[in-house]
Amino acid sequence: MDKNMFASDNYSGICPEAWQALEQANQGFATSYGDDPWTERACNALREFFETDCQVFFVFNGTAANSLALASLCRSYHSVICHEMAHVETDECGAAEFFSNGTKVLLVPGEHGKVDPAAVAETVERRSDIHYPKPHVLSITQATELGTLYSADELRVLGDLAREHSLKMHMDGARFANAVASMAVSPAEMTWKAGVDVLTFGGTKNGMPVGEAVIFFDNDLAREFDYRCKQAGQLASKMRFLAAPWVGLLESGAVLSHAAHANHCARLLAAQLEVVPGVKLIHQVQANAVFAQMPQELIDRLHAEGWHFYTFIGSGHARLMCSWQTLEEDVLLFGRDLQRLAEDL
Ligand SMILES: *Cc1c(COP(=O)(O)O)cnc(C)c1O
Repeated sequence: MDKNMFASDNYSGICPEAWQALEQANQGFATSYGDDPWTERACNALREFFETDCQVFFVFNGTAANSLALASLCRSYHSVICHEMAHVETDECGAAEFFSNGTKVLLVPGEHGKVDPAAVAETVERRSDIHYPKPHVLSITQATELGTLYSADELRVLGDLAREHSLKMHMDGARFANAVASMAVSPAEMTWKAGVDVLTFGGTKNGMPVGEAVIFFDNDLAREFDYRCKQAGQLASKMRFLAAPWVGLLESGAVLSHAAHANHCARLLAAQLEVVPGVKLIHQVQANAVFAQMPQELIDRLHAEGWHFYTFIGSGHARLMCSWQTLEEDVLLFGRDLQRLAEDL
């Protein structure tokens, strides 16, 4: 047993479905740079998943997926509106601005990691003069960096708002599968039917070794995106190995069952935390993240016993993440340790 398991969902390994697909893809020779049967199969599986004829690109990681997607939507004098805790703002080292040659990221507040629609409107309407970086994209994260979800209604409100203000809509879906698994909302309803133009769909945190998909629901917006990927060093020559895990997860249905398992473990973990005096859940546990406030002494004791988790990510509380690989019995073991260590505080 490994006490690192709650530190991040990307501490997890490669899931069996991805591994098996990689093994199957590792037969003989295949055309490079995406002209191979695995890439075609993965694209088709994604089109089926989203029930639409979308344009699909596979890149190595989420930072590339987000920043190249945003760069393709914007000109350098545009701005992107996102939550102040968005990964795009806090964890991508300025890649969105870099790849877009200066597009400015404008931050809005909002409870529990979700943008406040009124703040988005205010940011757009505040100015219309030539001196202001012209708002052009609304970027939201689903599931959010704080483990919460935009409901279908909230998505609709934001989609309408974006349309009213001629904003394109980008969704950072590093944990999109967790959102779909948690809500009775189809991938289509969660995205293009709600007005999302581009989704970056995360694979890494849900059992793949590497790779995210950039999905354009408006084919015109995908024009020349292949060049952008190539220039940014994001065109894999052995593309079949980025694509095969998608085939493995989508065709087996593991993409949602793994995410559902991670969500379930997070709820179980939350139930362990909730009953400990002095521990308070900070955000609703709707996906695979648990954020808790606890006495520093308790954090120190857990760390001293080898439980590894971060306290500086997101809202600055103890963050515990679950993944496809988390075991229920380990969640319960953590719960027992927590109880014991909290007893004589
Ligand atoms: C993990 C994550 C990403 C992707 O990060 P990379 O390390 O660049 O792969 C993007 N958005 C969110 C919200 C994430 O949590």
